[in-house]
Amino acid sequence: MSLIVQKYGGTSVGTIERIEAVAEKIVGFRERGDDVVVVVSAMSGETNRLIGLAGEINDEPSPREMDVLVSTGEQVTIALLSMALQKRGYDARSYTGSQVRILTDSSHSKARIQEIDAHRMEHDLSKGRVVVVAGFQGSDENGNITTLGRGGSDTTAVALAAALTADECQIYTDVDGVYTTDPRVVEGARRLDQITFEEMLEMASQGSKVLQIRAVEFAGKYKVPLRVLSSFEEGSGTLITLEEDDDMEKPIVSGIAFNRDEAKLTIRGIPDVPGIASRVLGAVGRANIEVDVIVQNVAQDNTASLTFTVHRNEMTKAQDVLESVAKELGATTVEADANIAKVALVGVGMRSHAGVAATMFEALAKDNINIQMISTSEIKITVVIDERYLELAVRGLHSAFELADADTEEK
Ligand code: ASP
Ligand code: MG
Repeated sequence: MSLIVQKYGGTSVGTIERIEAVAEKIVGFRERGDDVVVVVSAMSGETNRLIGLAGEINDEPSPREMDVLVSTGEQVTIALLSMALQKRGYDARSYTGSQVRILTDSSHSKARIQEIDAHRMEHDLSKGRVVVVAGFQGSDENGNITTLGRGGSDTTAVALAAALTADECQIYTDVDGVYTTDPRVVEGARRLDQITFEEMLEMASQGSKVLQIRAVEFAGKYKVPLRVLSSFEEGSGTLITLEEDDDMEKPIVSGIAFNRDEAKLTIRGIPDVPGIASRVLGAVGRANIEVDVIVQNVAQDNTASLTFTVHRNEMTKAQDVLESVAKELGATTVEADANIAKVALVGVGMRSHAGVAATMFEALAKDNINIQMISTSEIKITVVIDERYLELAVRGLHSAFELADADTEEK
């Protein structure tokens, strides 16, 4: 018998039929003898609909009232799911975030959880009840309703699992787990049975949209075993856990993350003297632009060039900043290129293996793909390439590192 916290997302509770199906699923766990605490999202589309309603009244509605409004979506689904469980003969109790007492700070629409009172939930569990909690919300010390940011129900689930020291936190969604890479790009992409928190953060921050990043960070910090699985298909999904030191079968590369969200900027002909990177990137930072991959080169004439990537939405803004820095420093040119893509190999196994980068560069060379920038960390190697070759690169790397199922032919 274990204590499981399960979270069902918007599509999983998108219709009455689906809510009934979720109830059936929960019944299955209860039959096995597990204790279950359930967190639900609003029915799919509902949060957006509510935001739309507010927008019809005011372009900038009060943050406090906005949270009162958008938190209602989850109040609907906790009640409906509890009714569906009761209809099946199970005692169930629904709670809003503030009824549980999920205490947050007062930053409306992006509140942080400070404390969770587990007493009520524990009492209900001891009486054999299923506890159904509204995701995405809490309340501050003055009782104001707060919300945790879009996708925040994942974080609610992980936080409850931590507070209850649950055996596992299961996130039910419309995909059946985390994949070696996007299956729309590589046909042979394989579902991972297991991945570490660190790897998941690298995969997620680079564009896999399976889980809210904050929820993964939270789970890593409080060591909550987290499992992503499908609400519609049977299967064991992907378990996200801590890295085991003695894990002999640890793969060197777990997955390939990529995105097209960035743009590359280059400033050329700047003096090669101490403090120059700080002059350039300091100005970019002061404009509140986040910089990702950075490369500096020194030319034969002893001038330097600095290349870095920023989010594509901020390319023009960054270009303006560079133009004015260029004037101050007497730089020769400023270039901007939006047609780049970032591809990263991710794997904790890289810590103990040499030669991964060489294999990566070799695979790219074989496909005649030029590498524009390289950056590495302990568990990741990132390259920036021409956007046109993104798919080719991801497929080539997927096969070079033999990430596909043994029985899948890669194309
Ligand atoms: N309903 C909220 C949203 O759409 C929270 C969630 O689904 O996690 O962002
Ligand atoms: Mg979600």
